[in-house]
Amino acid sequence: MGGYGSGRKFGAGCTEDYRSIDIRRWQRDGYLVPGRYLDWQWLQNGEKVAAISVKVETGRLRLIYYYRSNDAEWENLDYPVSLQTTACHYGRERYWFTCPAVGCGRRVAVLFLGGKIFACRHCYRLVYKSQRETADDRASRRAETIRRRLGWQAGILNLEGDKPKGMHWRTFERLRAIQDRFAGRCLAGILARLRINGGGKNRFCCTESCTK
Ligand SMILES: [Zn+2]
Repeated sequence: MGGYGSGRKFGAGCTEDYRSIDIRRWQRDGYLVPGRYLDWQWLQNGEKVAAISVKVETGRLRLIYYYRSNDAEWENLDYPVSLQTTACHYGRERYWFTCPAVGCGRRVAVLFLGGKIFACRHCYRLVYKSQRETADDRASRRAETIRRRLGWQAGILNLEGDKPKGMHWRTFERLRAIQDRFAGRCLAGILARLRINGGGKNRFCCTESCTK
């Protein structure tokens, strides 16, 4: 049985930053046999950095490990995670975890240790890196919302349109200024990502397709 030194907090991190367990792998490796007991380890540069014990029971697993947050006392955790099965091709069954977090119970293939207990990515509000919205995506979305409201052609590279009939000039000028700001922010992000605007580390980069 291994120890856990993670002091991670809840938050909108990326799934790759957390330790996880994947039922598909355990099923593939033939571990899901009642009575089976396995030690599961995480390695970093070939060294064991964390481990848990898993006891396979009928219809459920028990996860057993030590956990502490920051400098608190080590706590010995031992709790069940129910398993579910669904039919898949050729009459075989596919196994799933039932997220053990209170009030969740989602059927998932992967559980993450983002705090004291293993839970699904919804519970930890995790996003996969490729799904994480970049700052310029967000700016672009806001600019587009305003363009729609003004009745302008969609797309921040298009020209500004006219003031819609019936809208006060003051409102129009305010929205135009906001649209301009978000569009500018988005363009700056795109330029940074494409490395047009000088070099340096790209702080907007967070997609997997990015090669930086
Ligand atoms: Zn959950």
